[in-house]
Amino acid sequence: MRRTIVAANWKMNGSTEMVEVLVGGVKSGLSGLDKGVEVVIIPPALYLRDVQRHLSGSEFALGLQNAACWQAGAYTGEVSADMAADVGCRYVLVGHSERRQYFGESDEVVAEKVERVLESGLNVMLCVGETLAQREAGEAEAVVARQIRIALAGVAAQQWEQIVVAYEPVWAIGTGRTATAADAQGMHAAMRALLAELGAPAEKLPLLYGGSVKPDNAAELFAQPDIDGGLIGGASLKVDDFVRICGAA
Ligand code: PEP
Repeated sequence: MRRTIVAANWKMNGSTEMVEVLVGGVKSGLSGLDKGVEVVIIPPALYLRDVQRHLSGSEFALGLQNAACWQAGAYTGEVSADMAADVGCRYVLVGHSERRQYFGESDEVVAEKVERVLESGLNVMLCVGETLAQREAGEAEAVVARQIRIALAGVAAQQWEQIVVAYEPVWAIGTGRTATAADAQGMHAAMRALLAELGAPAEKLPLLYGGSVKPDNAAELFAQPDIDGGLIGGASLKVDDFVRICGAA
């Protein structure tokens, strides 16, 4: 039986007031949610403590959007996986396509970050996905396979349980375009086969889909046999939408 996870990536959105409204709404909206769904809130790092305070007493998990390649030292502006562990995070997002696109993160940098997160004892939520040009050139599976192979090359046998992979086609993120459930399922099945080949306990490893997940497409995506939940961007900023998406998982 695999874990079902729905994660809210707030990206660089939020304010003290918004945290209060959003977390309060999500907390009350999900009070009757099936305990089998793990809900993860991933706010900007500056608001982690506020989110934590508003969530106290509930079973939500917290995540960091990005960790440094180092655990401590003279790296102005960076935040480490050890710090995330220290303040009570359970997950760290690694390799989000916006990090790859705007901050030049290569697969090798992503692999270093994966190692730091694993060392800190936290769970990696590794994001992979192809661009539209790569999909149209028929390269989608090869691109995703390369990203996974490089990012997870250093995972030791006992660390696989700290890994979650999110398939996020770049052309579907924040665009309103979603992969069809069949296309997403096809990629997830290919990723699971690859993970087995890499020595992971692939049948147990949660694979999330992300890319314009909304209340009206979530149920069909989550019903696919190899889709174990979602990584939600835009819709996680709307209480009602996020609550409905969690309800569909
Ligand atoms: C994301 O940022 O990971 C994401 C999937 O965004 P959106 O849901 O807005 O497409």
